[in-house]
Amino acid sequence: MIFYLALSFVFGSAVGSFLNVVIDRITQGGSILHPLRSYCDHCKTPLNVLDLVPVISFVGMGAKCRYCKKPISWQYPIVETSVATLFTLAFWVLSQREILSIGYLGYWFILISVLVVVATVDFKFSLIPTTFVFFASLVALFFTYFTNDSAIFIEHVLAAFAAGLFFLLIVILTRGRGMGQGDIGGFCCSSYSGQKEAWSNCAVCSVFGIWVFNKPFLGKRVN
Ligand SMILES: [Zn+2]
Repeated sequence: MIFYLALSFVFGSAVGSFLNVVIDRITQGGSILHPLRSYCDHCKTPLNVLDLVPVISFVGMGAKCRYCKKPISWQYPIVETSVATLFTLAFWVLSQREILSIGYLGYWFILISVLVVVATVDFKFSLIPTTFVFFASLVALFFTYFTNDSAIFIEHVLAAFAAGLFFLLIVILTRGRGMGQGDIGGFCCSSYSGQKEAWSNCAVCSVFGIWVFNKPFLGKRVN
């Protein structure tokens, strides 16, 4: 068991490293796959394997680029350790519930990856990449359909729509100041797990959202 948890952690940190590239490139308007190799944001030197070991490279190089000595963003180790931790947690929870399979694991890994990208972009720029949210919604919809009987499927879809409607109301009532349209989609896609989960989701996210929103360290938000 410990071996598989460690494997999930290592795999998660590698995925996190890739997601950092995705986050940077979607926010800078570049292509995700071109250029294939990662490079330093400051001096544009292509990075090699030694520079790209998740977390370890960051710590080993003292949070600085090896070539130009400019500081590397904390986003990299934070995203890597978050994804690694969440992947490990997903593996553990699924095995505790005795529903561990490639399908379930793949589903949760995809959902975690997309939500980490969405959360990071939202945190940095107060924007939600809607394409990613819709992709996650579709994946969640199909997965719920194929892993449940139709009564449960309908209940879960209704829960997702109820959550979406609730946030649509907030957006309308606060004229978009409370949150944006992307948040509605985000809640829909993370609420396919059922009615109870949908509401606890809303509660946790709202509290967290209010907490983050009132923090002064968000001074460099774009809007
Ligand atoms: Zn550099």
